[in-house]
Amino acid sequence: MSRPWPARGVGRPPSSVEEVLDLVRAQGGRATASRRVLLEVLFEAADHCTAEDLADAVQARAPDVHLSTIYRNLDDLQRLGVIAHTHLGHGPATYQLATTAHAHLICEDCGATVEAPEELFHGLARVARARHGFVIDPHHFAILGRCATCTARAAAGEGPGAQVAASGGSGPPGGSGSRR
Ligand SMILES: [Zn+2]
Ligand SMILES: [Zn+2]
Ligand SMILES: [Zn+2]
Repeated sequence: MSRPWPARGVGRPPSSVEEVLDLVRAQGGRATASRRVLLEVLFEAADHCTAEDLADAVQARAPDVHLSTIYRNLDDLQRLGVIAHTHLGHGPATYQLATTAHAHLICEDCGATVEAPEELFHGLARVARARHGFVIDPHHFAILGRCATCTARAAAGEGPGAQVAASGGSGPPGGSGSRR
């Protein structure tokens, strides 16, 4: 998906399924019953639902919606720009409304996920654009590395990765993000 950044993701989140369906119609898409159920589920779901999670939830609500329809709707709604997916590491992609898409920092040692603030990418976005004419999309893939706790543990000589102990003592910047 080619989503210019920052654009969606920092906009006002739609407050209702109806509002998203208006967006779908505005993009030339149809507001079908099965798409409505999928969007209802996305609105109510926790962050980071896989396609399988969403399919289960849709079928729990509307058992006669075929699995292939659900997956096709996921693709179509992405193409229409109202939903987006993100890769949080090696597992399956997770889905959310395009307006709530956000970036993640993920610890490869313990799996901790930090919701990364947008400002983190402003410098990178500026340089990528100025030097390469490239528009980054920090929402699509998580940035992998090592969290503050694991870095400290490695520096103290315990746990996996102790052999690559962090240099310097000031710790990583921005280590105070929320952990989910
Ligand atoms: Zn992808
Ligand atoms: Zn960690
Ligand atoms: Zn997230």
